[in-house]
Amino acid sequence: MTLNRRNFIEAGVALGAALSAPRVIGQARPKVVVVGGGAGGATAARYLAKDGKGAMDVTLIEPTRTYYTCFFSNLYIGGFREFSSIGHSYGELASGYGVNVVHDWVVGVDRDASTVATAAGHTFPYDRLIVAPGIDFVAGAVPGWSAAAQNKMPHAWKAGSQTQLLKAQIESMPEGGVYCMVAPPNPYRCPPGPYERVSMVAHVLKEKNPTAKILIVDPKAKFSKQALFQEGWTRHYDGMIEWVGPDFGGANVSVNPDTMEVDIDGTVETVDVCNVIPRQKAGHIAHVMGLTESSGFCPIVPTTMQSRMDENIHVLGDATIAGDMPKSGFSANSQAKVAAMAVRGALTGSRVFPAKYSNTCWSLIDTDDGVKVGASYQATDEKIAKVDGFISQTGEDAALRKATYEESVGWYAGITTDMFG
Ligand SMILES: Cc1cc2nc3c(=O)[nH]c(=O)nc-3n(C[C@H](O)[C@H](O)[C@H](O)COP(=O)(O)OP(=O)(O)OC[C@H]3O[C@@H](n4cnc5c(N)ncnc54)[C@H](O)[C@@H]3O)c2cc1C
Repeated sequence: MTLNRRNFIEAGVALGAALSAPRVIGQARPKVVVVGGGAGGATAARYLAKDGKGAMDVTLIEPTRTYYTCFFSNLYIGGFREFSSIGHSYGELASGYGVNVVHDWVVGVDRDASTVATAAGHTFPYDRLIVAPGIDFVAGAVPGWSAAAQNKMPHAWKAGSQTQLLKAQIESMPEGGVYCMVAPPNPYRCPPGPYERVSMVAHVLKEKNPTAKILIVDPKAKFSKQALFQEGWTRHYDGMIEWVGPDFGGANVSVNPDTMEVDIDGTVETVDVCNVIPRQKAGHIAHVMGLTESSGFCPIVPTTMQSRMDENIHVLGDATIAGDMPKSGFSANSQAKVAAMAVRGALTGSRVFPAKYSNTCWSLIDTDDGVKVGASYQATDEKIAKVDGFISQTGEDAALRKATYEESVGWYAGITTDMFG
């Protein structure tokens, strides 16, 4: 086989590892730059530093000093967590693992020179680049909504001040008011997330404002864990939640943030809180770097998470097209470990094992009523393919649901330590 850039990428880990000669120890340490310190990027930086044991120079570039997880942000809205409990600093990555943490925005990459440029005017050379910028919103996806209107109609789909704002708006709703969620089309970050959020909003309103209503307008005909959520909504919040799917106009929605109106296929509703979660695409910088394709997301090599556009770049998490894997923090964490192993193999000659991935998404419906869905995956030539899966069942008893919720609390503690140290 004649090797060219394209079939090098498709050849995957085994061939890739054989072809890329490891750096000779004693020369300058190979440099890995990680763009984005979220679920994917923080895990990648930590595993590179931890398993590399000083053989590589690891730089993590992330603008925020505290990362607020979207996972469990719905539980904060529901009053089950303190806001501070979902915030994580980069201090341990720096002091405990020796990661060079730089708080800055990446604004571009010179793929020929293998350098990354930041907003503050710094340039970082790399031997391998890991890109994990999460998602951005597609402009104009919900007519009438733009980022400029996000304080009137919050998305709260990136956690932090948006989440606090949404919670405050829900708690200030007038008696008998209306909370409206404009749900996103597929594919989007956290498939069960909108419906867990509705459950948590209902939990708050049931206690503080029981005559209030929740309206979900949804462009999708079905959604993740639908039977479980709908069973739970009937059990805990009967009559409070109305779901409007595409058959009833949920796919033809526009909003007016000035008047707080939502137009659903020609019927105009005035609402008190409007949580607009628009169509999503890979984080902006992935587009600037030329790593995306027509779907707006980044195609990857399933064995290594290498970009199909550039073998020196690995892309992780929500920014990717990851085959059967959903866009979740668990998925991003799992993909980061595969990428870190592949990068370390390429740069230091360490052993690379076959890629294996897993995911579980938990959702809380009401106090102690937790449900889950999950799967394991393997890399095929074509995609990251589902091997086997599991899902909670309708009609489960209260003890099992409580145990599922407790499992999720343990998961949160474990995975955030796995990411941030
Ligand atoms: C409400 C909600 C609930 C969720 N619940 C769950 C759950 O229970 N379980 C689960 O597994 N997942 C859950 N998720 C999904 C999870 O949050 C995401 O899938 C995960 O955060 C994706 O990780 P990531 O690393 O791809 O992106 P992110 O975690 O978003 O990280 C991206 C990082 O890149 C940085 N960045 C962006 N652009 C640049 C740039 N130009 N330069 C430098 N840095 C940049 C950002 O500041 C950010 O810190 C939930 C999501 C939501 C919205």
